[in-house]
Amino acid sequence: MKPSPLRASLAAAGFALLLTSPVFAQKPAQKNDEEYTKLIKQNLQDPRITTELVDHLPASATVPSPLKHFGHIIGQVGEIAYTKDMYAYYQALAKASPRAKFWTIGKSEEGRDMVMLAIADEATIKALDTHKANLAALTDPRKTTEAQAQQIIKTGKPIYWLTSGMHSPETGGPQMLMELAYRLIVEETPFIQEIRNNTITFITPVIEPDGRDKHVDTYYYGKKTGKPRPPLMYWGKYVAHDNNRDGMGQFLNLTRAVTRTQLEWHPTVMHDLHEAQSYLYSSTGTGPYNEALDAITINEWWTLANTDVSELTKRGVPGVFTYGFYDGWVPNYMFFIAHSHNAIGRFYEVQSYGPDVVENLRLPATTTSREWFRPNPPLPSIKWGPRNNTNIQQSGVLFSLNHFAKNRQMYLENYWLKNKRSIEKGKTGPVNAWVIPAGQRRKADTADAVNEMMRQGLEIHRADAAFKAGNVNVAAGDYVVRGDQPFRTLADMYFSIQNYPPQNPRPYDDTGWTFQYMRNIKLQPVADKTVFDQKMTRVVGEVKAAGGIEGTGSTLVVEATSDNNFVTFRFKNADVKMAAAEDDFELAGHKFRAGSIVIANADRAKLEPQLKALGLSAWAVDAAPAVKTHDLDLPRIGYVHAWQRTQDEGWVRAAFDTYGIPYTYFADQKLREGNLRAKYDVIVYPHVGGNAQSQVNGIPKTGEAIPYKKSDLTPNLGVNDSSDDIRGGMGIEGLTELAKFVEAGGTLITEGSTTTIFPSYGMMSGVTVESPAQLFVRGSVLRSKWGDRKSPIAYGYDASDLPVYFNQDPVLNAGGGGIPAEFAGFLGGANANAGLGQNVTPMAAPLRIAPLDPADAPKGAEGAAVDEVGAFRQMARAFGVNLDSGARPRIVLSFPQKPEEMLLSGTLAGGQFLAGRAAALDVPMGKGHVVMFALRPFWRWQTQGTYSLGFNAIMNWNDLDAGKAAPGGPAAGAGQQ
Ligand SMILES: [Zn+2]
Repeated sequence: MKPSPLRASLAAAGFALLLTSPVFAQKPAQKNDEEYTKLIKQNLQDPRITTELVDHLPASATVPSPLKHFGHIIGQVGEIAYTKDMYAYYQALAKASPRAKFWTIGKSEEGRDMVMLAIADEATIKALDTHKANLAALTDPRKTTEAQAQQIIKTGKPIYWLTSGMHSPETGGPQMLMELAYRLIVEETPFIQEIRNNTITFITPVIEPDGRDKHVDTYYYGKKTGKPRPPLMYWGKYVAHDNNRDGMGQFLNLTRAVTRTQLEWHPTVMHDLHEAQSYLYSSTGTGPYNEALDAITINEWWTLANTDVSELTKRGVPGVFTYGFYDGWVPNYMFFIAHSHNAIGRFYEVQSYGPDVVENLRLPATTTSREWFRPNPPLPSIKWGPRNNTNIQQSGVLFSLNHFAKNRQMYLENYWLKNKRSIEKGKTGPVNAWVIPAGQRRKADTADAVNEMMRQGLEIHRADAAFKAGNVNVAAGDYVVRGDQPFRTLADMYFSIQNYPPQNPRPYDDTGWTFQYMRNIKLQPVADKTVFDQKMTRVVGEVKAAGGIEGTGSTLVVEATSDNNFVTFRFKNADVKMAAAEDDFELAGHKFRAGSIVIANADRAKLEPQLKALGLSAWAVDAAPAVKTHDLDLPRIGYVHAWQRTQDEGWVRAAFDTYGIPYTYFADQKLREGNLRAKYDVIVYPHVGGNAQSQVNGIPKTGEAIPYKKSDLTPNLGVNDSSDDIRGGMGIEGLTELAKFVEAGGTLITEGSTTTIFPSYGMMSGVTVESPAQLFVRGSVLRSKWGDRKSPIAYGYDASDLPVYFNQDPVLNAGGGGIPAEFAGFLGGANANAGLGQNVTPMAAPLRIAPLDPADAPKGAEGAAVDEVGAFRQMARAFGVNLDSGARPRIVLSFPQKPEEMLLSGTLAGGQFLAGRAAALDVPMGKGHVVMFALRPFWRWQTQGTYSLGFNAIMNWNDLDAGKAAPGGPAAGAGQQ
C-alpha cells in the first residue's frame, strides 16, 4: 500500500507529529540511509517541493549511494559532476548490482563517451537480448504474426529511455539521474518494484558530454576564483543549443548515437530532460502537432503528461503543467527520433538546478496565472535550488515510470498497433511509395540523401527493371521507398509538404522542411498499389552514384551538377591546374553547364578513382572545349566567428569540414589586426544574429577582461578557439579592415545577419536592408528564381527554380528604391516600408503553397546608429576605402515577384514584402566582391541543395565577374522564368 499523498505533503510541510502515526509503519521494512535522508531535508530549499517518493533514500550494504561515491548527495548546493565522474558512478552501480548494466553508445566529436545504464530486475537484465528481440519483433508486423505479437505484449518489457545533458548549462537532469538510478536499483517499495519488474529503464545521463565538461569548468572557475564565470562559448564542437535541432539532418555524433540506439533497442519512450520552464513542464505542446504522428502518439503524450501533472498536483507540489510551451510541429528535435520510429518522444523543462541557490525566485504573472493546463501554478516567489530541482523532476519521472509499468501492455500494444498502421497506410495510400531517380542530375547528392535515409532506418529498394506506377516512370536502378514499411512515418514526415497557417499559435521553430526541396533532389510520390508487384531489390550498405570517366583523350571535362562533392574534388587536387567553363557548352554529344571543370593533360590514373568514389562524371577528350574558361585558383580562406554567439556558424563549419574545404578559423576581434588581403583571398563570415551595430561591437567592453581559454581550472575550454579577453568585436577598425580587404580584391562571403553589416554602415549604395513588420515567414522553404545563371555562384545548377530555406530576415532590396542604406540598420518595423506605399493586412492573407513542379507534387497536396555610421565612414575614407563606388549588385537569386508563387513548404504571410527581394547577391566593391546570402545556404545540415552556392563562390572567388553583362545592358543569361 502506498503512503497517502496527504500525509506525504503534510510531512513535507513539517508536520513531524504525523511521522509517528501508524501510517508510517506500513512502509516496507527496508532501512533508509539516515545520513542521506537527513541531508535531503537539510538541502531542500522549499518544503512544498517534495513527495513521498524522494524525501528519503534507502540504504544498501552493497550498492554505493551518491553520497558514498561523491562525498555529497544529489542536490548538494555548489556541486556538479564531470562526465568521467558520473560514468565512474554508473559503472560502480553496474558492478555492484545485477539489476544494472553499463555500456557505451558512441563517442562525441571531442572523443568523450556517451553511455547507457540499463536498470531492471535481475532476470530481465540477464535476458536483455531476449527483450531486445521481442521489441524488434513488435516493430515489424511483416515478420511477426498477430499471435506472436500478443504473446510478447503479455510477457515483454518495454524500454523507457531517459536522456539528459543535451543543453550544457541545464545541469539538473544529469545530476538527478544518478540518484534515480540508485533508487531504482535499491528501493524495495511496491511502487519501485512495479517499475523494476515490468519495464527496462535506460539512462543516458549526458548526451552532449563535450559541452557538459566545458560547463562544469566554467562553474568551478567562478566558484574557486570569485571572478565572473567565462560564458559557455562552445558546447559541442559544432553547435550549442541547436544540438537538439539535429533530429532530421543528423550531422552530430550525439544524434547518430541516439538513432543507432533507437534502431537497435526500439525503446518505447524517449524522455529528454531540460531546464527552461517553471517549475516543471511535462511536454505535450500547444499544437499544431506534426501531421505524420499517429493519433495514438498524441494521446500517449497527453496521458503521460496528465499523469505527471495530476500526481504532483495531488501532492500539493506547485508549478507542474503541460500544454503551454512548444508546439509539436517540426520533427527536428532529438526526441522526434522516437516519433519517426513509432515510439513516444517527450521532454521535461524544469526550473534550473544551479547548483547555486536563488534566495528569492520571482516569476511574472504570465507564468503564475492559474490556467486549465496549469491547475496549481508556480508561486510568485520561492526559494529555489538544486534539491528542489532534483525532487520535482525525479518525482515526475518516477510517476511516469510507474504509470508506464502499470500500463506496460497498453504501451506495447500501442507500439505494435502503430507499426501495423504505418504499414497499412502504405498499402491503402493515397501515397504507396516514393521514387527517387538514381540517374538524376545531382546524382552524388541523391546517393548521399539515400544513405542518410537508410542510416535513419528507412528501407530502400532499387527497381530491378523499368516500370510505370501511377504517373511515375521508374527506371531500372531507381530508388524506391516502399510505403508499406514500419518506419514509413519517417518518410511521411520528411517528404510531405508542410502547410502551417499563420493563424496558428506562433511556431516554436521551423515550419517547413520538405526533404527533397532542402536537398534539391527529385523525389516523386507514387499513388498506385501496383508498385508493390514490381520486382525490386532491397539496398544493403551504402550506395554510390555512378561516376568515372567516359572516352579517351588528354583533356578531362568534369561535369558541374551542383553536387557537393565537386568542391571536394577541387580541394583534394590542390596541385592540379583546373579551369572553369564560363558558359554552357556541348561536347561529345553531352550538354554541360557553365562551371564544369576543364583539366588539360590530366593524370587519369590518379583522378579516375577519385571521380568514381565521389560519384562525379567526367569526359576525356582530345582538345579543350570551345568555351571561355578561367583558372580555378585555390583561395586561402579566413573563417570568422564572433565571440558573442557561436551557435550558428558551426553548421557552416560542418559543411566545410565534411566536403574538405580548408580554412583558418579566428574571432572577429582579430580583423582589427589588419593586413587581411595579404593573408586571405576569401573571408567567410557566417550568421551571428543581432543587428549590424551589435555584430560590429561584440561583447561590451565593460568590467574586467573575460578570458576564454584552456587553463588548470578550465582544462576543457579553448578547443575551437581561445582568447585572453573575448570582449569587443571587430569594432569600426575591424570593419574598416574588412572593407579594405574587399577593396583590395578579396571576396567576403556573408549569410544571414552578417549580410546586413556593410549596407547598414552605408557601404553599399545598391543594397538596402528592410525590416517589414508585416512579413511572417518562420523557417520556411521558399521558391527562388535565377536572376543571373552566368554568375559563377550559379554554376552547375540547372534552370529550375531553386528551393531555399529562409527565416524572416534579412530582407535585402537590391532593386533600387526603398530607404537610404544609411538608415536601414536602425529603422525597424513599419518605418522601413514607409516609402513602399503598400496597404496590407498580411496576417489575414490566405496561405498558398505552390508546388515546386506540379508533376512532382504529392497527391492531394495543394542596426547601426547614425553617429557610428558617420564615424565609420570618416575612418574608412581616411584609409582610402571608396565607399561610394556605386557598382551594381549582381542578383544571382531572388524571391518571386508574385507572392503566391513564393511558398513551397511551411508558413508565409505578407509575402509581398519579400517579392522580388534578393536571395543571393554578388556585390562588386573596388577590386573585390561581397557575396551575400539572405537564404541560409548551410542551415542545420538540412539544406544540402544550396551548399554549392557557397562552394561556387569560394572556388571562383577571383572570377566572380565572369559572364557579367556589360554596364547598362541587359543582365547576361538572366532567367527567362
Ligand atoms: Zn534545453
